[in-house]
Amino acid sequence: MVAMFLTVLGSSGSLGGPSSPASGYLVEVEGCAPVVVDMGPGVLGALQRHVSPEDVTVLLSHLHADHCLDVPGLLVWRRYGPEATGAGVVPLIGPSGTAYRIGVASSEEPGAVDDLTDTFDVRTWDVTPQVELRGDDGEVAVTVRAERVDHPPESYGLRLTSREGRTLVYSGDTAYCESLVELAAGADVLLCEASWTHEGERPPGMHMSGTEAGRTAARAGVGRLVLTHIPPWTDRDAVRDEAAREFGGEILLAEPDLRLTI
Ligand SMILES: [Zn+2]
Ligand SMILES: [Zn+2]
Repeated sequence: MVAMFLTVLGSSGSLGGPSSPASGYLVEVEGCAPVVVDMGPGVLGALQRHVSPEDVTVLLSHLHADHCLDVPGLLVWRRYGPEATGAGVVPLIGPSGTAYRIGVASSEEPGAVDDLTDTFDVRTWDVTPQVELRGDDGEVAVTVRAERVDHPPESYGLRLTSREGRTLVYSGDTAYCESLVELAAGADVLLCEASWTHEGERPPGMHMSGTEAGRTAARAGVGRLVLTHIPPWTDRDAVRDEAAREFGGEILLAEPDLRLTI
């Protein structure tokens, strides 16, 4: 049996925090290139503690800065780093406009758009909502399914299924929504955002509370719930306690270097 592993690289919501980069997660399946899901500020540095960034596949849930602004750094690594082969065209899959937005962030002059094609094979979820990542043996190692979720920019939840049928579902950023409950159905692990507690003024169509993350996990019937994207100003224990009142399974708080076997 080939295991799938999740390692948290960064879990601080909306921006980097004092003890964590912004959003980023490493998914590893034996015999397959490492996969990085989201790449916010600080994630590229954390990634280097675990794997070489040279051949990682990058999946982006959406293009808010806290989920993608270390991708230009990865481009520099592949183009100019001592291990750069010049042949590192690997998948970068995200919302529509990914090549343009990352190209703008990486450009040298105002109004310019860097051409990413020497380092990335860019695809978009709106065109290819299901992607197969192949292992060294040429067989499908991981299948990724993307579903739109409820967040201001074009945003996706991602369901990663290994060859053995192990499943990790990542909420991305989203308000409580039916599409995430459906995407997460029966998952072994739900990596779910919970950006605030379930009290006071909470803008609609933006983020979830601990209560809503727990409710999502319970309705989807997942095995374990990992709460993430908690900003530095939000009480982590309060978020977890809210979730525990809704979901009876194991609940973990994401933090850098937390590593789970899916
Ligand atoms: Zn975010
Ligand atoms: Zn966002």
